[in-house]
Amino acid sequence: MSERTFTIIKPDSVENGNAGRIISHLEAAGFTILAARMTHLSQNQAQAFYAVHNERPFYNDLVAYMTSGPVWVMALERDQAVPTLRKEMGATNPADADQGTIRKLYGESIERNAIHGSDSSENAAIEIAFFFPAADLA
Ligand code: ATP
Ligand code: MG
Repeated sequence: MSERTFTIIKPDSVENGNAGRIISHLEAAGFTILAARMTHLSQNQAQAFYAVHNERPFYNDLVAYMTSGPVWVMALERDQAVPTLRKEMGATNPADADQGTIRKLYGESIERNAIHGSDSSENAAIEIAFFFPAADLA
């Protein structure tokens, strides 16, 4: 059954000129792009987006990195979208990611790891609504 997920092509990917290759990878993996735009996260947006990690030692660095440059935010759709995106992304640490995954191909470090993907359908809906008005997804 068709499912939606949400991705951020992170600042390192845009900075390194990999955004187009990552979008191509997602299209080749069967995702339909429902909505997409380039944006530069504010401090408040990055803090809110990663609020679940606010007690973690890497939180402040994560917020600084996510606000360091422009990103692409995208709503994606396909069957099994959430698990399929996580599989195409690879492990959080690119060093541990499977061959051919986006993080293995384009990630630099456990922090600068190229891409975000929602971890559940519920969070995907929350994250899509965080960035896109419902009318953009019609
Ligand atoms: P994301 O939520 O961005 O898709 P993830 O679900 O694979 O990534 P999380 O545990 O949710 O991993 O961590 C969120 C982000 O925080 C990571 O993608 C990475 O950028 C950063 N991060 C996670 N663990 C560390 C760490 N130990 N040191 C530095 N940064 C980290
Ligand atoms: Mg996560």
